[in-house]
Amino acid sequence: MGSNVISFHYTLTDQTGKTLDSSAGGEPLTFLEGSGQIIRGLEAELLGMKAGEKKHVTLKARDAYGEHDASNVMEVPLDKMPARAIKVGDRFRAGKDAHAPVVTATKVTDTHVTLDGNHPLASMDLTFDVEITEVRAATADELAHGHAHGPGGHHH
Ligand code: ZN
Repeated sequence: MGSNVISFHYTLTDQTGKTLDSSAGGEPLTFLEGSGQIIRGLEAELLGMKAGEKKHVTLKARDAYGEHDASNVMEVPLDKMPARAIKVGDRFRAGKDAHAPVVTATKVTDTHVTLDGNHPLASMDLTFDVEITEVRAATADELAHGHAHGPGGHHH
């Protein structure tokens, strides 16, 4: 576990230049070094940067959300699903546990639904334009909890 809390603004684009996500106009994202709060490939690029610094980071899929894994795709009979209409693109947890993986319905037939447990950004090379807004020492509470607190971090 690192000892710094880093806040940054980011704009995420795919290889065609399409914006997928951005913190612009909102709170920056805040994370505790080494806590796994952001993808590792991006964190590695941010370590050592100072407030006000900007960086253009391109990550291969394997350093971002990983390659698409066919073993995370399953076909489930509709009668085994909770009774409701399911459409392609629907996302839900694959179990009652709050930590159950989130799956996406990628195909629906009269009898079955195909559920994909891969991250929606799996197998995509991604570009992040980042600007560091703050670097500060983590508090004892943050180190004990293993995550950042305050704006952009955990609230509790
Ligand atoms: Zn906490």
